Amino acid sequence: MPEPTAPETRRRTLPITAVETHILDIPLVRPHKFSVATMHTQGVLLIRLVTDDGVVGWGEGVVPGGPWWGGESIEGMAALVDRYLAPVVVGQDVLRPEALARRIERAAPGAPFARAGLETAAWDAAGRALGLPVHQLLGGPHRDRLPVTWALGTDSVGFVVEEARRLLEEGRHRSFKLKMGGEEPAADVRRVSAIADALAEDASLAVDINGAWDEYTARRWLPSLADAGIRLVEQPVPAAGLGSLARLRQQSGSALMADESVWTPADALGLVTAHATDVVSLKIGKSGGLSAVRRIAAIAEAGGIGCYGGTTIETSLGTAASAHVFCTIGALDFGTELFGPFLLSDDIATEPVRYEAGELILGSGPGFGITIDEEKLAKYKRR
Ligand code: MN
Repeated sequence: MPEPTAPETRRRTLPITAVETHILDIPLVRPHKFSVATMHTQGVLLIRLVTDDGVVGWGEGVVPGGPWWGGESIEGMAALVDRYLAPVVVGQDVLRPEALARRIERAAPGAPFARAGLETAAWDAAGRALGLPVHQLLGGPHRDRLPVTWALGTDSVGFVVEEARRLLEEGRHRSFKLKMGGEEPAADVRRVSAIADALAEDASLAVDINGAWDEYTARRWLPSLADAGIRLVEQPVPAAGLGSLARLRQQSGSALMADESVWTPADALGLVTAHATDVVSLKIGKSGGLSAVRRIAAIAEAGGIGCYGGTTIETSLGTAASAHVFCTIGALDFGTELFGPFLLSDDIATEPVRYEAGELILGSGPGFGITIDEEKLAKYKRR
C-alpha cells in the first residue's frame, strides 16, 4: 500500500506594502464620566494596512477621553503611526504577527495605544489572508460568547437604578459597573450604596475608582462598599501603589481588580509577586495589542489571578479585536465590559458586533470579521 500523500504545504509570506491612518469622531449616546475626564465624543484612529496581495487589514486605536489615562492622544497616535511605525512594518511579513508585535514594540515602547491599533490591523490582515478568524490563529476560543457588563451613568440614584432595572428586564445585561472617585468619598459611597441596595440582589456590581483614593481613604470606605454588595472594586489607589493594593487586598471583602497598575507582562509579574490583586483588567490598548494581552493573561493564570476583559470604548472593530483575544483566555473568570458599541451613537462597521442576552457573540468571518462602512468612514472623518 502506498503512503497517502499529504497535501502540499509551504510557508507563505505576505509583505505589507502600505499603512494609512484616519481620525474619526463619533458622538456618544450620553456623556461617559471618569474620575478626571468626561467624554462626549470618542476619537477613533482607524488604521488601514495593505498587503502585496491586495489583502487589507483594519485596526482601531482609541484612548479613554484624552491623554489623562496614559499620556497618549488620538492626534499623537496618528503622527506616531504615520511617521515612525508605518516604516518599521512596511516590507515585513504580515503572516508573522507575533514577530511584528515585537518589532512595533521596540519602535515605540511608551506608546501602547498607538501600537495596539497597528498590531490589530496586522492580525486582521493575517486572518483575512489565511481565510481564518483571528481567534483561530491564536489557538481557538474557549468560549463563543462573552458576558458583558454595562457602565451605569453618574446621574441621580433614581435615574441610574431605573436604567439598570430596564436593562435587567430587557435581558440586555446582568452586571453593572459604576464609576467612582469624582466626588468626596463619603458622598460617593452613599450614592453607590443606595444604587447597590436597589440592585445587588439581582445583578453583579462593580465600581471603578480610577486610582482616585489614597490607601487611608480606601481602608476607610472599602468595607462599606463590600457591605453594600459591591463584588469587584477596580483600581482603588493609584497605579504605583502595589504595597497599598496588597495591604487593602488582605482586608477587602470585595475582589480587587488592577487596571492602571497593569500595562505590561512585567507589571503583571509584579502584581503576582506582591500578592497585590485578585483580578487584572486586560485591554488591548493599554498593553499594545493582542500579543501582550496573551502574555499578561498567562502570567495572571500562573499566579492564580483572575482576568477581566476591559474596554477603552471601541467601535465594533476594536470590540471584535478584543473579543477575539479574550475568548482564547482560559482564566477570563470575571467576564468583560465590551460595551463600547452601546455607548457610541453609531458604528463604522457594515454589520456591527452582535449581542444577545447580555453576551457578545463571537463572529466567524476572516480576520476580526468586521467590514468597514466607507460611507460612515467619510461621515465621521475629522476634517
Ligand atoms: Mn478602569
